[in-house]
Amino acid sequence: MTGKLIIFSAPSGSGKTTIVKYLMQHDLQLAFSISATTREPRGTEVHGTDYYFFSVDEFKQKIAEDAFVEWEEVYPGKFYGTLKSEVERLTNNGYNVLFDIDVKGGVNVKKMYGTRALSVFVQPPSINALRERLYGRGTDTPEVIQDRLDKAEYEMTFSPQFDVVIVNDNLDEACTNTEKLIREFLNA
Ligand code: ADP
Ligand code: 5GP
Repeated sequence: MTGKLIIFSAPSGSGKTTIVKYLMQHDLQLAFSISATTREPRGTEVHGTDYYFFSVDEFKQKIAEDAFVEWEEVYPGKFYGTLKSEVERLTNNGYNVLFDIDVKGGVNVKKMYGTRALSVFVQPPSINALRERLYGRGTDTPEVIQDRLDKAEYEMTFSPQFDVVIVNDNLDEACTNTEKLIREFLNA
């Protein structure tokens, strides 16, 4: 394994997916780590593209087989994890691996891989901005948005444990700053 690892974590609505999509379109030899999850597919999500969708029993079997780099119960009863086989598949194909995982997973993967990994925390400029973005995105009910906002305050306490914090206020600036940081890390 020679590729490098780039970890993105953020409170929901910070703009992480938007920034990750921007990065994937640039010439950085990045491949997205497809996680396993026990949550239901949403919208047009496809098994093996967006996630590996497992039943709880299948997920627990993988835990027993020590198949995960890390896993977390991100929401009650909903498990998410990074498969060792996925990281191997991508690094063996010569890619740098990009992870979109929750704050605890992000801190754990960074600890495991040390200087081979860059951990990035995407922070919204304020909780009010986060609220506006979650409503603007239009994918969640007011109850779900409130749960995510409550969780965001807790997630923000993890930011000092990341290598870099990107404040996503102006989106263009956040994208170009992140791209620059990643290029420097990959070329180091
Ligand atoms: P996440 O993946 O962190 O949950 P998204 O990338 O889905 O967040 O972004 C949440 C919403 O906020 C989307 O509708 C997106 O278009 C919008 N958004 C992202 N960045 C900004 C920004 N800098 N300013 C305003 N809106 C933004
Ligand atoms: P969603 O259900 O919205 O796709 O993801 C919910 C949360 O789970 C996000 O914070 C996402 O980053 C996180 N997540 C996705 N995959 C993994 C994973 O493999 N491990 C961990 N720890 N979190 C993950």
